[in-house]
Amino acid sequence: MKPCGGGVSPAIARWFDFDFGPAISNRVVKVSYSWKQGDIAEAALKGVEPMWMVRRDSFDQFLVDKARQAGAQVQDCTEVTGIELRGAAWQVTTTQGEFAGAYLIGADGAKGPLAGWLGLGAIAVSPWGRAWR
Ligand SMILES: Cc1cc2nc3c(=O)[nH]c(=O)nc-3n(C[C@H](O)[C@H](O)[C@H](O)COP(=O)(O)OP(=O)(O)OC[C@H]3O[C@@H](n4cnc5c(N)ncnc54)[C@H](O)[C@@H]3O)c2cc1C
Repeated sequence: MKPCGGGVSPAIARWFDFDFGPAISNRVVKVSYSWKQGDIAEAALKGVEPMWMVRRDSFDQFLVDKARQAGAQVQDCTEVTGIELRGAAWQVTTTQGEFAGAYLIGADGAKGPLAGWLGLGAIAVSPWGRAWR
């Protein structure tokens, strides 16, 4: 089973200063809808840039490599266990020690603990992974 559809909007390209070409495995110009493998309806995606399709293992590694090239330190197998704002710096406690930085970006997903630690309130997560406050 392929859990992630791997569809990426080309609109994201404007936020980055590098080419995503090497990480794109396919470009979608047509979509097919079907009911129980039958009654297929096809629609061409006209007037829009073709949707990128990526393989998550190579796409994610591509992004990690780009982050490293830009100077990021990647810390694998490390759970964040707490955060604290001390003066002007965020202190991040992890299972691999403490880290500090001027900015803290919460990228721990819809079910991660960061929103709660920041006092953003409880979230409800549906069976499909959607979250709301
Ligand atoms: C079946 C399915 C298909 C999908 N298909 C697509 C698609 O085709 N295109 C698309 O754009 N989106 C798709 N999505 C949605 C997409 O997967 C999510 O929107 C995306 O993964 C959210 O990214 P994220 O980085 O916010 O969170 P996540 O991908 O959930 O990543 C959060 C990460 O933080 C880590 N983490 C959590 N807590 C801690 C902690 N305390 N310390 C350290 N690490 C922690 C987790 O282990 C995880 O690795 C799909 C989702 C599903 C379920």
